[in-house]
Amino acid sequence: MSTSSSDIAILGGGISGIIAALELEAKGVFPTLYESTDRLGGRVKSDFFDDIPLDHGFQVLLTAYPEVVKYLDLSALELHYFRPGAYIFGKDGKVELIGDAFRDPSFLWPTIKTNSASLLDKIKLLVEQRRISGLPVEEIFNQRDQSTLESLYSKYSERFINQFFKPFYGGIFLEKELQTSVKQFEFVFHMFANGYAAFPKGGMQSVIDQLSAKLTKTKVLLNHKVTIEEVKDRHDKVIQTFAEKDQKWHGTEVFYFELPKASKYSEKLKNVIGLFPESNSVNSMHVLQGGNTAILSATVIGVSEDSDRLEELIREEIKTRSGIEAGKLVKHYKIEKALPVISEIRLKPDSSKNNQSVIRSGDYLLYPSLNAAMSSGRIAAEKAFQNEL
Ligand SMILES: Cc1cc2nc3c(=O)[nH]c(=O)nc-3n(C[C@H](O)[C@H](O)[C@H](O)COP(=O)(O)OP(=O)(O)OC[C@H]3O[C@@H](n4cnc5c(N)ncnc54)[C@H](O)[C@@H]3O)c2cc1C
Repeated sequence: MSTSSSDIAILGGGISGIIAALELEAKGVFPTLYESTDRLGGRVKSDFFDDIPLDHGFQVLLTAYPEVVKYLDLSALELHYFRPGAYIFGKDGKVELIGDAFRDPSFLWPTIKTNSASLLDKIKLLVEQRRISGLPVEEIFNQRDQSTLESLYSKYSERFINQFFKPFYGGIFLEKELQTSVKQFEFVFHMFANGYAAFPKGGMQSVIDQLSAKLTKTKVLLNHKVTIEEVKDRHDKVIQTFAEKDQKWHGTEVFYFELPKASKYSEKLKNVIGLFPESNSVNSMHVLQGGNTAILSATVIGVSEDSDRLEELIREEIKTRSGIEAGKLVKHYKIEKALPVISEIRLKPDSSKNNQSVIRSGDYLLYPSLNAAMSSGRIAAEKAFQNEL
């Protein structure tokens, strides 16, 4: 085999680039990885406030993701699990709890009682849960495409869609109108139904730390912003893991506030997400607990021109709907390029997009998710290794 240590260049050190490098190392090929910033991880990053990890945007690991199970030692990440449900902090000041009573029986009574969904909605949700959780992922991706909203309207009442699906899945897709493909919706629903949403004790950054610690032979060049033109003379093959300039994105902002006073919900929100249906400011919140400090994390869909005004509106909305008083702002992230807008989502990359020397990789080619970033990195490494251009 002719491949030597400098033959393959990987451009971009996000999840996709790291997985591509790990796969090549496993085959005895040692690539050069060029990353434009000063650390690996791409869109997965955390900072710390005291001992509490603050992720750059609220993200969770879905433990049923097949690639996550394959590449990560989940027990070493000391996962904190969310319970499979949500508090709904209504516009009218009413607070309801809804959840999967099959997996957490404590959700049974609140879910029966909730007014956010009709009896028919609740029955349909159970039927859909059975159906989607049992579907093979290939079947989910092979179905006729339509928007999530269109699909939901054929099954549930407008009230249930507005009260639950829009804030819950809108927060996952980072777009409020649920125009994202039903394939993505059912993929995520399937993963929720077959596993748990969790985050590592050390923040999402610890996913990157765990993976990158396994890179022993890859030459990692940080602070190297490069183009294909610049590297192609130095390498036979290039795996590019970032999107082109014309890629469209969904954005988000996250505000982390100190939580000086305990309230009725501050304990509960440590493992159940709180939703704000029909809100123009905050979409969801949850509480992070450190040794001595509690932090309230508030997520916004989209990015605003005036973050100071947005912060005021969030504080008001949280106080009015939940009674929680947000304390000092400790961190704010505005992420304009959070999730790629993808017109045709797919399970495997379209290889016709590759040319003679460039193999493309990254979640933007498939569907926005850690699972997609991992699988595209693996497939790109296989292509580069097999010389399948
Ligand atoms: C706020 C937010 C919330 C999310 N929530 C979830 C979630 O809950 N669950 C989930 O599964 N997924 C979630 N995601 C998506 C997940 O984080 C991404 O799918 C994944 O990180 C994408 O990895 P990637 O390697 O494809 O791309 P990226 O992480 O974007 O990596 C591309 C890398 O290329 C580098 N780069 C760019 N240009 C150059 C250049 N010219 N030269 C060298 N390097 C370059 C970048 O710096 C970056 O490191 C979320 C993402 C965000 C931002």
